[in-house]
Amino acid sequence: MAATPPEQNDAVREIRINPIVPTQSVLVATARSMRPKQAEQAAPRDTRKHVDTCPFCTGNEDMTPPEIATYPSRENWQIRIVENLYPVLGDDRSSPNFSFGLQQTIDGYGRHEVIIDHNHHGIGLHEMSVEHLAMLFGAYRDRMVELYDTDDRLRYVLAFKNFGPAAGGSIPHTHSQVIAMPVVPDNVQAEVDSSQHFYDKNHRCIFCSLIDEALTFEATIYDRESGEVRRKLDVGQYVIERTEHFIAIKPFASRYEWEVHILPLQHHADYRTISADELSDLGNIIKRTMSRLEAVLGGVQYNYFIHSLPPHNEGNGGPASFHWHIEICPRTSIPTGFELGAGLFVNTISPEEAAIKLRNVSIDD
Ligand SMILES: [Zn+2]
Ligand SMILES: [Zn+2]
Ligand SMILES: [Zn+2]
Repeated sequence: MAATPPEQNDAVREIRINPIVPTQSVLVATARSMRPKQAEQAAPRDTRKHVDTCPFCTGNEDMTPPEIATYPSRENWQIRIVENLYPVLGDDRSSPNFSFGLQQTIDGYGRHEVIIDHNHHGIGLHEMSVEHLAMLFGAYRDRMVELYDTDDRLRYVLAFKNFGPAAGGSIPHTHSQVIAMPVVPDNVQAEVDSSQHFYDKNHRCIFCSLIDEALTFEATIYDRESGEVRRKLDVGQYVIERTEHFIAIKPFASRYEWEVHILPLQHHADYRTISADELSDLGNIIKRTMSRLEAVLGGVQYNYFIHSLPPHNEGNGGPASFHWHIEICPRTSIPTGFELGAGLFVNTISPEEAAIKLRNVSIDD
């Protein structure tokens, strides 16, 4: 029996293992009958340049807590960083550790900062200039450097952005956040541990291996019983964008229909080491990738976050095995009880199909 070429497959229904963290998997189920999800409605976007009552707009600086940093200058700021008025973690050390039976807590110690991404109220990421995006991603780096350097109780600094109500973005003025916490989050630790495990076995960084695979190889999927070839995948089909220093990839086991990851082509574990030259190229690939998502989805709502090697990671995975990356997760549907209950994400668009759409959509160069 001949192998079925991918274009003749009208439905995929398979559990895909996350190669970075094999305990995490995704059900890719594209058959119409397998679509359990409710599509998220596109929210109308606030595209105004300036809003008189907005605390993040120019002229309203006294409506926010005092500023921590501004770029490029205080008088003519384009990016402004302030303490979060409603921090999820704070400086308050007064509450004692609390435990009863199996329930335990640790202090909610940490820092929570807001980065006002742009002085233009309603600008989309894809509409910002490459130079501005380089400055923004440089601001994330600067906050990580400063927070880790000035407070050795902090174990992880997470820079992230929520955009749109479906992604938890509650304030319409474009902004990101930095949360510094006293523990390494489980999902980051799982990536660190699993990539260290891969490194111990293969003497290679798994992220570098995936990049190489995306750029060169073909993969074959065999039928488990008969051993026959079920499908051949051109792994290069997962590449959405490639620039001088970076690659944007559609993960094979994508949790979200339009999820894209951005990684440096060269092995770097710690985001804090990014150079000015690399930042400007990162601005470029972010702009191109967000433009593609916007062109395909129209009014894309998303979360993104940076995963970087935790610096005080005593003995638990090292700079050779971990590779920093940005995960962009567009929110096009609401998670179901099945997903929460089974801990298994359901993706109803095959990553191959999504990658083709993202790669082929035309954007302004
Ligand atoms: Zn505003
Ligand atoms: Zn690597
Ligand atoms: Zn990650």
